[in-house]
Amino acid sequence: MGELTEGELLARIFPLLPLSDTVLLGPGDDAAIVAAPDGRTVISMDTLVEDHDFRLVRPNGHRTTGYDVGWKSAAQNLSDINAMGGTATSLVVSLTLPPQTPVAWVEDCARGLAAAIEGLGAIGCCVVGGDLGAGTQLVVTAAVTGTLDGRSPVLRSGARAGHTIAVAGTLGRAAAGLAILEDGRTLTDFGPSGEELVAAQLRPQPPLAAGPAAALAGASAMLDVSDGLIRDAGRIATASGVGLDLDPEALRRYAEPLEGAAALLGVEAMDWVLGGGEDHGLLATFPPDRPLPPGFAAVGSVKPGRPLVTLASRETALRGWDHFAD
Ligand SMILES: [Mg+2]
Repeated sequence: MGELTEGELLARIFPLLPLSDTVLLGPGDDAAIVAAPDGRTVISMDTLVEDHDFRLVRPNGHRTTGYDVGWKSAAQNLSDINAMGGTATSLVVSLTLPPQTPVAWVEDCARGLAAAIEGLGAIGCCVVGGDLGAGTQLVVTAAVTGTLDGRSPVLRSGARAGHTIAVAGTLGRAAAGLAILEDGRTLTDFGPSGEELVAAQLRPQPPLAAGPAAALAGASAMLDVSDGLIRDAGRIATASGVGLDLDPEALRRYAEPLEGAAALLGVEAMDWVLGGGEDHGLLATFPPDRPLPPGFAAVGSVKPGRPLVTLASRETALRGWDHFAD
């Protein structure tokens, strides 16, 4: 890093980040200008901090690439727009880099950002700018804008008793991948599924078509599962003032593919499904009189009464990820 100026580094990064039609003015001025097609801007941001959200070297020896961190940063930001029923229009990315960071790592991060945008189908989105700075830890912060394309946003507060709870995307796979990375054994001990589960942790695949589809289908509440099904379901329960009762039988299909890895690690696959975040699937509720949109599977129903998450009507002690818990 030391040998390049900020301008020289930016000159290497920007060619790796193609622009889209929503950009009225790209990088080069003090700020970019992005179209807001329906007059409203959906906006959010997320940060990845070295040794908190990712580690450059894992206990099993895996080295986290810039590509993976770039992909994940884009994916979790795009997912938050998806969770509102919107589609992303732009990302701005701030990189805090320790001086020893190789230039190739930064270029790789830019490639990962671009690959996630394209690979996840965020057509119309691109990186329009950001910031480069020095620090003691690697930090990747991205802010994302999006459009609702005339749709109503889907909030957390609209779930009502009798509505169906449904999930799009995967549950528990990223948590299984994290457990494999944090384990002493090598990846090959887990067979071919080990590689796939680790990929789910490093390069999550939020179902970006499902958010707008849910909004069009009349979803009453929605969020992306970033901190675990139980914890995130609790957020809908609290915001909506209802109970969310999850059906363990319906959740079994998410746990079954994880059972081999769980047995090797001596844990329960269902704990990853209920408590593991970072797959960035969608959890939504729908009025009972409509068919679920493509990509969604029913996993429970909304109940009247206390804002509580239950499993087959029983309370669960399981919690998901909380950044500030010890
Ligand atoms: Mg979210």
